[in-house]
Amino acid sequence: MPYRLIRQEGTARRGEFKTVHGTVQTPAFMNVATAAAIKGGLSAFDLKEIRAQVMLCNTYHLHLRPGDKLVADLGGLHRFTRWDGPILTDSGGFQVFSLAKLRHITEEGVTFNSHLDGHKIFMGPEESMQIQANLGSTIAMAFDECVENPAEHDYAAASCARTARWLLRCQKELARLKHEGKAVNPDQLLFGINQGCTYKDLRVEHMKQIAEYDLDGYAIGGLAVGEPAEVMYDMISAVEPYAPKDKIRYLMGVGTPGNIIEGVYRGVDLFDCVMPSRNARHGHLFTWNGIINIKNLKYERDESPIDPECDCPVCRNFSRAYIRHLQKADEMLGMRLAVMHNLYFYNHLMERIREELDAGTFTQFHDKYVKLLDTRI
Ligand SMILES: [Zn+2]
Repeated sequence: MPYRLIRQEGTARRGEFKTVHGTVQTPAFMNVATAAAIKGGLSAFDLKEIRAQVMLCNTYHLHLRPGDKLVADLGGLHRFTRWDGPILTDSGGFQVFSLAKLRHITEEGVTFNSHLDGHKIFMGPEESMQIQANLGSTIAMAFDECVENPAEHDYAAASCARTARWLLRCQKELARLKHEGKAVNPDQLLFGINQGCTYKDLRVEHMKQIAEYDLDGYAIGGLAVGEPAEVMYDMISAVEPYAPKDKIRYLMGVGTPGNIIEGVYRGVDLFDCVMPSRNARHGHLFTWNGIINIKNLKYERDESPIDPECDCPVCRNFSRAYIRHLQKADEMLGMRLAVMHNLYFYNHLMERIREELDAGTFTQFHDKYVKLLDTRI
């Protein structure tokens, strides 16, 4: 059993997740390195510096460029990137459904055109597993259909049923690849993904169904795609009782610091989001007092760090005035320092959450910070 529940406060869970690439203390944030690099110029060495535990890479992007076979020939993602901690690869599904043009879905899988050069690609459950086995990630995600939001109940129900059938095919294919020595990581884990749009009945039915497949972890997908945050929280609360207690839970693509605190509050263990790096590149920086825009004129002569409460390498050394100047001048360093701070903030936020759970004071922490951290100041 890779997941161990250490203690609970209400529905919130403090735990740990053992993998061949190290143990993840949960709740945890996974740092998004789409094409095997954090956007903003951060390497695997920088990830250690900002206290990251898990790196997340995108299957679709790496399949297109440089190609998963090349990554396998070079020893897999760990050797390729020099990140020795856990890596999660997504299934490619979300990108196929959001980036690719002219897609066509059948029971077998999805035919689509590459967003880079338009060439035709087919991806189904087997292909997704083969690519992820080549990448050699610690955790592979099952290939699912990502339905547009909102969707008709009938379509969402049919899609859930297909996603469940695809999950069985993923499980079978990954087992075959591992058995035949075709997986770069012979201990690769597999997570299933709960779908069902914003229909509670579908979400619950689907979770009950996939809970029986004995996977290494369970993700909640298809949320944070434009629905109000309250609807997302309702969906998490609806499926939580049916997610296996002894397995890790992952809320995909979420979110703001406030969203993460609410997710933990409702029993989620893992998160990932492009928000900290994307916002950093636009000058929006997270602090323990709320979000600042470093490009604001009021920081022109401000010699204090981005966040006086932050002990990241950026805040220990550089002033707001300097980072503002770098960003205004479009210097690459301005982007890099901002991304470092924001990702550190997220990883440190998770550390704080774990400490509060250990001390049994998470509820007070939730009440104090859930709104504050998402406020623009
Ligand atoms: Zn900082």
